[in-house]
Amino acid sequence: MHSIIENYYDPNKQVMVGLTEKELNIVKSAIKLLPLPHEKVYLERDLSFSYDEGVKYSQRTDLYDARERVPEIIDFKTMKDFRFALDERDLTQNIQVLSYANAVLGEVEAVRVSHLQIALEVVEPPRKVSIELSRDYVKEKWEQAEERFFKPMLKSRRLPIVDVEARVGKACEDYGGCWHKEHCELSRKGGDFMAVIRDKNEKKEEKKEVEIKKELNKISCLFVDCAPMKGSIQPVLFSDFIEEILTALCEKAGVEDWRLIEFGKGRGFVAIALRKVTLPEYMVINTKEDLSSTALEVLVGRSENVVWGSK
Ligand code: SF4
Repeated sequence: MHSIIENYYDPNKQVMVGLTEKELNIVKSAIKLLPLPHEKVYLERDLSFSYDEGVKYSQRTDLYDARERVPEIIDFKTMKDFRFALDERDLTQNIQVLSYANAVLGEVEAVRVSHLQIALEVVEPPRKVSIELSRDYVKEKWEQAEERFFKPMLKSRRLPIVDVEARVGKACEDYGGCWHKEHCELSRKGGDFMAVIRDKNEKKEEKKEVEIKKELNKISCLFVDCAPMKGSIQPVLFSDFIEEILTALCEKAGVEDWRLIEFGKGRGFVAIALRKVTLPEYMVINTKEDLSSTALEVLVGRSENVVWGSK
């Protein structure tokens, strides 16, 4: 329903096409409660602001109408029925409403905050519940919210994550059942917040690995203990190539020689670096060189062709 209404503000979209009769009636009634498209009516307006200690409070509202001296923030709320919809009084206490208001009250004296309430399982048409809030009121309420919610949240942020056991599955059944339940990952995992985080981290790692693999190039031809004598190929010498890598590794470890990196772990770090760096098209390596055995373990796998010289 959100996107159907949003299409109304896009001159390139046809709003009423392909809707059922019921949807059509809902959309028509909803649109009557909204401002006409205008250059000062913004969709998905970013109302983020910075909070204490570099924390960003991120939020977006569905619609921001800045045509009047008192702007209006409108959020679309889709629900089964109006049983648990907020009324004007609820809006004055609602933390989301206050955070929206707080985001814009630096620029204006007062703001109107509205819920466009759309119930999908009743015959009643959508309705708009609205309240105007003054800067002083929001300031006072916001300070209370900081004490009650944000300061404790920031404090708990510093706790080691293993100490947190959040189980919120119970909430999915409240107020007649959460609207997002069908596609909510947290609900699917029985409200086990940590399982969702673990899953997300694993997916992130997998993605990273795929990206790294995608970026890695290959040496067209690696010459081991030999070098092309004819033709225009100008291979890079491994000894030159590795110099820059060793300097960077030594600088990072704060030592002068790669052999001193973390008490003998230098070879391992070189191998890791060679697995990640961009390689030249052609390279010559001499097996009598320092680090050649470590390098070959990686470079042979990262070469399309290897020419082995005989000594
Ligand atoms: S966990 Fe998901 S389904 Fe449960 S209340 Fe939260 S958003 Fe709704």
